[in-house]
Amino acid sequence: MTEAILVINAGSSSIKFQLFAVAPDDRLVRRFKGQIEGIGTRPRLVAVTSNREILVDETWPSVDVADLPAALDKVIAFLRPQIGGELPAAVGHRVVHGGPHYASPVAVTSRVLAELEKFVALAPLHQPNNLAPIRAVLQRRPHLLQVACFDTAFHRGHPEVADCYAIPQSLYAEGVRRYGFHGLSYEYIAQRLSAVAPDVASGRIVVAHLGSGASMCAISNGQSVESTMGFTAMDGLPMGTRPGQLDPGVVLYLLNEKGMSAEAIETFLYKDCGLKGLSGISNDVRELLASPDPRAQMALDYFTYRIALFTGMLAAAMGGIDGFVFTAGIGENAPLIREAVIRRLSWLGLDVSTQANKKNAPCISRKGARVPCFVIPTDEEFMIATHTLRVLRERTASALEEKRA
Ligand code: ADP
Repeated sequence: MTEAILVINAGSSSIKFQLFAVAPDDRLVRRFKGQIEGIGTRPRLVAVTSNREILVDETWPSVDVADLPAALDKVIAFLRPQIGGELPAAVGHRVVHGGPHYASPVAVTSRVLAELEKFVALAPLHQPNNLAPIRAVLQRRPHLLQVACFDTAFHRGHPEVADCYAIPQSLYAEGVRRYGFHGLSYEYIAQRLSAVAPDVASGRIVVAHLGSGASMCAISNGQSVESTMGFTAMDGLPMGTRPGQLDPGVVLYLLNEKGMSAEAIETFLYKDCGLKGLSGISNDVRELLASPDPRAQMALDYFTYRIALFTGMLAAAMGGIDGFVFTAGIGENAPLIREAVIRRLSWLGLDVSTQANKKNAPCISRKGARVPCFVIPTDEEFMIATHTLRVLRERTASALEEKRA
């Protein structure tokens, strides 16, 4: 069998996975992707090839797949025959938090895993799920190379002034910082833009990652310099169910005046706010676009207004703007949202081509617009596979060198 890289992205109730074959010239070729969702509730495993051929579609009673390790067993049982009974050459994992120090992907050892466990406090809803499959594989196959790829890493080079809050330094030292997230997506977009429009890519770019989680990033000459997200993946833009930027006084009000517990506030902020809370209708932009209810329109206006506001902030961080990119579920598929954003930003030199925008074309700005606008589908899994292959090759090269020495 050809060499393969397995990518795992484990969330709170699902494990997504993709398998890439490594071609002789080290190109990565996607073989299939799948996910097991409804862990502990209605477990279902689905996987499709890159030609959309269904490889598996299986469900189980909830007791059979009650937790993440059980789900991982199902995924492994499915994968084993698919990859000819052999192990992949390496496994790449998405890990939301790399803390203050990890600025690039890292090969996981038990020491690294212990270090990553310290960041659970910084991302309690995501980090434990991200680490569970790493731990399970480490126990069963200690010699299989596993690479942790962080959502925070791409932002670690931010200047100090963008990396902190105006709070005492002791909190910064213990890790209360403006990390920024969606870094794997932004890194992929920066690379793709270099291929699609190299002149623009070397300038000052604002990228809007608009999915059920949403953030924006200022990228100057390929490097992240500012993000709308900070300490957690809650700040910045309003999202499907998270409020985005919120005066901390609101949290104090909920705590002191409404008598809500910290746990209740956490659930409220992660699950009941954002587009869902504001509209009272749905967290899904498709449903809001289709709804005649004025509250749906209001929620979408708030969304595009905030994207435009933050574009001003990010342009200020870079001293200007030379290009704008839309990506992720909403950014890639919702022409009406993109058009509303671009119209709000005409003062900055953005201008939309209605025709190109309707078709989700790669470039959607009107000819002659000062700031070109692009739609680039993101591919975080490909980025993880790319990093994992690089670590694998570096490892093989240093093992060879050691042998020679
Ligand atoms: P995530 O990976 O963060 O779960 P995605 O990037 O897949 O999210 O984006 C999911 C969101 O994209 C959905 O909640 C929905 O609001 C939006 N979306 C997907 N397709 C469309 C579409 N055709 N039009 C408008 N919004 C869409």
